[in-house]
Amino acid sequence: MEESMDYIISFDIGTTEIKGIMVNQHGEILLEGSTPLKMIYGENGEKEQNPESWWEGVIEIAACWKREESINLYDVKAITLSGQMENVIPISYNNKCERAILYSDTRAKEEAEYINHFYKNIGEVIGNHVRSSTPFAKLLWLKNKDIEAYYGAQSFVFSAKDYIIYKLTSRFVTDPITGATTGMMNLNKRIWEEDIIVPVGIDIEKLPEILQSEEKAGRLSANAAEIIGLQEGIPVLCGSGDAGASTIGAGAVVEGQGYLHLGTTGWVAIPAKRFISHPSAFTLAHLPKHLLIAVIPLLNGGNIYQWGVQTFTDNEDYEGFERMVKESLSKKDDVLFLPYLYGERDREEGGAFISITAKTTKEDFTRAIVEGLCYSIKQICDELLSPKEGDITIIGGTSRSTVLCQCLADVLGRQINVPKNSHVLTAYGALAPAFIALGWSQSYNHFVRDYINKKKHVHFKTDVSKREYHIEQYKRYIKYVERK
Ligand code: ADP
Repeated sequence: MEESMDYIISFDIGTTEIKGIMVNQHGEILLEGSTPLKMIYGENGEKEQNPESWWEGVIEIAACWKREESINLYDVKAITLSGQMENVIPISYNNKCERAILYSDTRAKEEAEYINHFYKNIGEVIGNHVRSSTPFAKLLWLKNKDIEAYYGAQSFVFSAKDYIIYKLTSRFVTDPITGATTGMMNLNKRIWEEDIIVPVGIDIEKLPEILQSEEKAGRLSANAAEIIGLQEGIPVLCGSGDAGASTIGAGAVVEGQGYLHLGTTGWVAIPAKRFISHPSAFTLAHLPKHLLIAVIPLLNGGNIYQWGVQTFTDNEDYEGFERMVKESLSKKDDVLFLPYLYGERDREEGGAFISITAKTTKEDFTRAIVEGLCYSIKQICDELLSPKEGDITIIGGTSRSTVLCQCLADVLGRQINVPKNSHVLTAYGALAPAFIALGWSQSYNHFVRDYINKKKHVHFKTDVSKREYHIEQYKRYIKYVERK
């Protein structure tokens, strides 16, 4: 009997690019596509993107796939999504949307202070501290300082993927993991917390409906179907904010199973049953309903690696950069790098190279960059992960660097596992809700068992001969970091 050809498409709307994959019922990736995204920087630290550029990116990827003769896009049975979270995306009454205030935008400092002052115990309900990046504070900023955008909005959505859902279905929805980043969701009940939203003057009716990731957000509209070349009426799943999809992609569906995501920025995360009280940790709602995810974000991640590649090689040569690191590794050197180019937690922007001499070469700088990045990751792993031994999975675009993965194994003293297709694992993790919705998988645990754990992994074992060097360098690193 001929096997039916049913496909699912998953789009992950990141910060630097959109990735799309199409898979069959066996979870095999048949088509892959990506398209870059631009940032818009304002004079006062504003960080924005044009949401229409996300939509154009989705259309571009679909247009490439349409040209594939071996695949009929009409066999796609569902669309699912993941995307950057903690955004504020106003969609106006005339269905226009010209800007998204991104997660990294910290303009709402005063509003965050106001909210924290107004509600002393807000963390107990929403599971997080309200910060200048939190959408609740940013909504208040809009209401106070950009009246037109606030009152002109029929709805706000908070993840880039929710904007794409709107374009595909005309529905305003979000998922609990994105909801948990907004500062307005009751983390236990997974509903908007009216008692904190309304008293500060935010209109609750402007917020999207919270659905579970595997729930259908809507059906693909005729107009969107024509634009992207898919069958009208197929289900569009609510999907999940990128941290949730990554956590599934990393196979972390059991309490205590920590992993590292290194994309443009990054995070260390661990599924947990209870709220973890830590000044820098976020608590999010995992896709399996009984679990939360504790996350410590890294503002300095792949962007540091990229800065190194751009600064020390001609033509952004990633392979050349790796060769340079290896060349320096063959000799003794102790240049230390503090990777805080983009600030971090309570640190201002500003990194440093320490112990450079007239003998320091370009190669030594590249090695120090990789090592410094690994030390900053170790610091977070030590705070969040327990027990402190065992393998760690690393996913995200920067896991393509073998020198970085090896260095991490040496610095952490743990084996590092990098799953195949690691760079698209967020989009892959976002498939899980669709697999469940279509009945292809029974649960998130089954999805991980059948599709994630069976993937090939590349393993990096700790080189014990390097341990002593890294232990000493890490001590120095911590000394400088604590000095500030
Ligand atoms: P995001 O989705 O957060 O934008 P990705 O997972 O796509 O991020 O990862 C982007 C990062 O991957 C960039 O910072 C880039 O420097 C890094 N990267 C891309 N290719 C390589 C490579 N060959 N080696 C190391 N890092 C890489």
